[in-house]
Amino acid sequence: MDFLQDSPGDSSSPTPTHKDLTEYDYSSDSDDMARIREPESKIDKDKLHPDVLKDLEVHQGFMRQAINVAEEALAGGETPVACVLVYKGEVVARGMNDTNRSLNGTRHAEFLAIAVFLSKFPAAKLKETDLYVTVEPCIMCASALRQYGIRCVYYGCGNDRFGGNGSVLAVNSDKGLEEGYPSYGGIFRKEAIMLLRRFYIQENENAPNPRAKGNRELKPVV
Ligand SMILES: [Zn+2]
Repeated sequence: MDFLQDSPGDSSSPTPTHKDLTEYDYSSDSDDMARIREPESKIDKDKLHPDVLKDLEVHQGFMRQAINVAEEALAGGETPVACVLVYKGEVVARGMNDTNRSLNGTRHAEFLAIAVFLSKFPAAKLKETDLYVTVEPCIMCASALRQYGIRCVYYGCGNDRFGGNGSVLAVNSDKGLEEGYPSYGGIFRKEAIMLLRRFYIQENENAPNPRAKGNRELKPVV
């Protein structure tokens, strides 16, 4: 079952978006959990970038808010991916994944937060705004963020399957028409992963036809 694309128990639900781009297929195979991790090149998972370490408490404070929103998403049956936008040192917009409820695979946390931001500020202010998101932005969101000129992105865990900030493509820094943006991962990485694990275990238990492979346990992050 593709959790972001299909409503529970209804695999025939129409969805308007490109399947491979928008879903996080953290399915119930135990090996799939390996997808929710940093790329091999960042194998030292607890090592944060020196630029992040300089203001670690500040970054953790904003990421904590994103984690809290992701907790709300989990409680509401959504994939627990969430973000906050920080402008002039303040959280001015929040977003959580909304693909399950809406059956619209483009409603990722980043897009929702940007919509809130644009209801308050002109788009140009995004160039002075930082994003804190629990999971590395997907390719679609990474591209949108670049086109809006986001100043910087901080994320929790990497997204090996769809990540657009280096895990699959480096949309944030590849050659392009728009200027790229810096991106730093690993802030509350374990918390971000545990939220996703809790979600998929919950989904598995609620599935009308649980997978035979089942037998999943909440493994601690290593
Ligand atoms: Zn996305």
